[in-house]
Amino acid sequence: MFRFRDKEMAEKILQKLREMDLQITLMHVCGTHQDTLVRHGLQPLLEDVGVDIRQGPGCPVCVTTAKEIEESIALAKAGKTITVFGDMIKVPGVEESLSDAKTEGHDVRIVYGVNDAVDLAGKVDNEVVFIGVGFETTTPSIAVAVSRRPPKNFSLLSCHRVIPPALKAIVEMGEVRLDGLIEPGHVSTIIGSRPYEFLSEEHGIPQVIAGFEPLDLLMGVYMLAKQKEEGNARVDIEYRRVVKPEGNPAAIKVMDEVFEPADIKWRGFPTIPASGLVLSDEYQEYDARQRFEDDLAELKDKEFKEPKGCRCGEVLRGIIRSEECPLFAKTCTPMNPIGPCMVSAEGSCNILFKYSKYAEGK
Ligand code: SF4
Repeated sequence: MFRFRDKEMAEKILQKLREMDLQITLMHVCGTHQDTLVRHGLQPLLEDVGVDIRQGPGCPVCVTTAKEIEESIALAKAGKTITVFGDMIKVPGVEESLSDAKTEGHDVRIVYGVNDAVDLAGKVDNEVVFIGVGFETTTPSIAVAVSRRPPKNFSLLSCHRVIPPALKAIVEMGEVRLDGLIEPGHVSTIIGSRPYEFLSEEHGIPQVIAGFEPLDLLMGVYMLAKQKEEGNARVDIEYRRVVKPEGNPAAIKVMDEVFEPADIKWRGFPTIPASGLVLSDEYQEYDARQRFEDDLAELKDKEFKEPKGCRCGEVLRGIIRSEECPLFAKTCTPMNPIGPCMVSAEGSCNILFKYSKYAEGK
């Protein structure tokens, strides 16, 4: 029987990897994969068998740009009620965060899902803006809420992004020589395996969609190493108990109905074509950027720099690891985050801090 936390099985997989005499670099794009790697101590075990795993742009809060944070703060200051996931509230913009705006007396509320924001809009007269952050995992629930025509005082500031174009950007930028990609289990539950196929076909990259248990990740690495050894490049699914090649057609349908692709910047990246989602023509009335164009006019053509000294951009492109940032665990900690990778529970700086000697009490 396959058990998820079977030490003997883990040792067997590691031994197989050791026998392959590897020297490979892989990338995953998922905060939960990073959590599994660090929490269960897999990273040093894999390094011992010649496997270096980098975290790419797999944390939706981390890749949200300073400009999008500034837009949220500007709307709060313009008197709107801002509803936002808890992870976003502490992410610093240029000089302050939404949390600071709340402290100043602006109406910023943490919600657990878009439906809380829709319910709130039904109870108050004020404009309620939901800051929509997330990849294909989160987006279907927001699409369903918008497709049901929420109250007129509800609107969405879409900061949604999709994963495959970002992978294409990473591969084409070529800053890290990648021998394989570990694709995110949650996102793939929605989109399936097919949207990744072009990366194997056009760029010769082996790919595996992996689950989140330690053995899932070890098996995923082994499957990639096998592809590499055999000279193959295709998309394998390790997370078969959840992911199907076609994904979730109902979720894809509602996303396609409510959103359409747009070119968008990701933190640390230039504009990535068709990697963002904006509301389709049919749902434009819920677009906060259109509804509050005047409140956001000053920000329209502005560009914002990263916080001084913060190397989140390089962390998100897999060029450095969090511990290589000189500010890590010194001036930048979860209590005093300088960049979003230290704020979000899916950010690699936060994850490393949480499970390392730096965390309180260790
Ligand atoms: Fe940015 Fe802090 Fe991470 Fe450095 S440790 S990259 S400053 S979030």
